Amino acid sequence: KEKTTYFRQAITQTPDFPKPGIVFEDIFPIFTSPPHHEALIRAYELQIKELGVGTPDVIVGLDARGFLIGPTLALRAGCKFVPVRKAGKLPGKLETVTYDKEYGADSFAIQTASIKPSDKVLVVDDLIATGGSAKAAGELVKKCGGQLLGYIFIIELTGLKGRDKLDAPVYTLIESQ
Ligand code: IMP
Repeated sequence: KEKTTYFRQAITQTPDFPKPGIVFEDIFPIFTSPPHHEALIRAYELQIKELGVGTPDVIVGLDARGFLIGPTLALRAGCKFVPVRKAGKLPGKLETVTYDKEYGADSFAIQTASIKPSDKVLVVDDLIATGGSAKAAGELVKKCGGQLLGYIFIIELTGLKGRDKLDAPVYTLIESQ
């Protein structure tokens, strides 16, 4: 509860952005406050500990706000950080998947060699809405032969039941409608 209130103070909600009827949760203000930024990373580290599966081999961050959290977590855990990017952004041999999201369809890609078969992988992003992008990222991890440990997010839009789409444990810091 305390943790929720603390982060809530630093996350703005903007009605009708980017489309009418959507309340946009903006986590960027967290990064304007070093104490909130530090507490956020600590909270994620605790979530990883609570998973009870030891140190992951890879933290996968989703384009683009997963890149704000993933590299710091990977550095602290002493493991690899690997990006999942929107189609057309990554060079080399790729695995790709197309998925539906809250604002339309999209494609995600990962570099095939970035995850070794049997690597233990954790997926991070800022927010889970429909769960479409997280599910797609999980599929990419599996295509590379990785073992999906779970997913962690700052915000969960609970009404959309995105977590029901995912077949690995889901940890979130804040629930929103
Ligand atoms: P999903 O695939 O429907 O779960 O949507 C999650 C993705 O959309 C994440 O990558 C989020 O960054 C982005 N997203 C959806 N709604 C919001 C929002 O209100 N604030 C910030 N990002 C959002």
